[in-house]
Amino acid sequence: MSTQTPNGRPAAVEVRDVHKWYGAHRVLDGIDLTVAAGEVTAVIGPSGSGKSTLLRVINHLEKPEIGHVSLNGELIGVRRHGERLKELSERVILAQRSRIGFVFQNFNLFPHLTVLDNVAAAPVATGLLRKPQAQELAHTLLARVGLADRTGAYPRQLSGGQQQRVAIARALALRPGVILFDEPTSALDPELVGEVLAVIRDLATSGSTLVIVTHEIGFAREVADRIVFIDGGRIVEQGPPDQVLDDPRHPRTREFLSRVL
Ligand code: ADP
Ligand code: MG
Repeated sequence: MSTQTPNGRPAAVEVRDVHKWYGAHRVLDGIDLTVAAGEVTAVIGPSGSGKSTLLRVINHLEKPEIGHVSLNGELIGVRRHGERLKELSERVILAQRSRIGFVFQNFNLFPHLTVLDNVAAAPVATGLLRKPQAQELAHTLLARVGLADRTGAYPRQLSGGQQQRVAIARALALRPGVILFDEPTSALDPELVGEVLAVIRDLATSGSTLVIVTHEIGFAREVADRIVFIDGGRIVEQGPPDQVLDDPRHPRTREFLSRVL
């Protein structure tokens, strides 16, 4: 699959005509999105507009009724068979999912594991690394997120900001092709937001491929190559931050921005 991307790099994620219903409620209504390798995409939009569902479809946590997603040109969760798309085995789906990092609003750390083991567990479980190498990598990643001195602590002993930084280190441990962030700072006390944004900023400037759902419009402007505005399960408009945020073309975008800025 060769898709023209804004920065000319190969597409890391392609979402094609994705529709998703919960019962009679249509939550995604024909989403097309291409994320180029090395690109930082910020997704903004009102509550209930389908942002989390979009990330969950990209990460296989939800299956679209129509449409498909591919990662580095490889279809996610399905393969082509003649004209039909066939389901992949659970094993292949898990392997695909391990190439996508996911950082949740509520951290979702393992409470019974130390910080070090939270980060080291996944590369061992997926067979990527043996335990000593995984622990070495975990030390390196925890140093990168500023937590070199907390490797032996348990999640409950950390602040929310520290827990979210562990969650980011854990996502990085699988060396994912893309990291999806679902409102990574919205569960944090305001004074802890900055330390988490600093870590994401570091990833953004070091060439990682990131998709960030956020209400931090100022941060989105600063780090994103592209802003995607979603409303009612559709991408209403997308483009460079200064265009979408300062000169939005669609009245819905203007109205949303007037409420949040
Ligand atoms: P956002 O992240 O933009 O706030 P979501 O993707 O979480 O939006 O949700 C979009 C819509 O889908 C909302 O109306 C929400 O209530 C509904 N929804 C989300 N998850 C489920 C689910 N598991 N079952 C039924 N409805 C859901
Ligand atoms: Mg959400």
